[in-house]
Amino acid sequence: MDDDALPLFRPAMQGFRWDAVAHQPYKQDGSAPFKDISRQVLFQQDNLACELRYFEMDPAGYSTLEQHEHTHAVMILRGRGACLVDRTVQAVKPFDLITIPAWTWHQFRAAPTEALGFLCMVNSQRDRPRLPTDDDLAALKRDPAIARFMSTT
Ligand code: MN
Repeated sequence: MDDDALPLFRPAMQGFRWDAVAHQPYKQDGSAPFKDISRQVLFQQDNLACELRYFEMDPAGYSTLEQHEHTHAVMILRGRGACLVDRTVQAVKPFDLITIPAWTWHQFRAAPTEALGFLCMVNSQRDRPRLPTDDDLAALKRDPAIARFMSTT
C-alpha cells in the first residue's frame, strides 16, 4: 500500500476487522496445507522495514506448517489454540508472545471449538517459506506431542 493512500486513523470494527483493511481468506482446495485461515494486512508501507498482519483461523483451522529464513514476532489476540515452534508444542491464549526464529518449523492451530487470531510482525523483504518433505513430517511426528498436535482437526 502506498503511504499516500494509508488513512491516519482506521477504526476497529466488529469481529476483528478494521476499516479500510481488506479481509483476505486464503483460497484452499483439498490439497492445501492450511485450513480456514484469513489474513488482514494492517501495516505495510514503503518507509517501514516490517509489516504487521492479523491472521485468524476458524475453529479447527490451521496455518501452513513451514520454515524460512525470516523471523516472526507474534502476539495472540483472540481465542484459544496451540502452536508448534521448532520442537515445542505450546497452548496459547490472548496476549501471549511467540518468537519464531529463522529456520524453525512453525504452525498455529485453533482449538476445535474456538477461533484463534494473532498479530504477526514480519520483515517486508523476506524469503519464501519452505514446506516439509515427507521425511521432515515423519521426523517431526516421531515426537508424540508433535504427532498429537498435527492430528488435531
Ligand atoms: Mn511463517
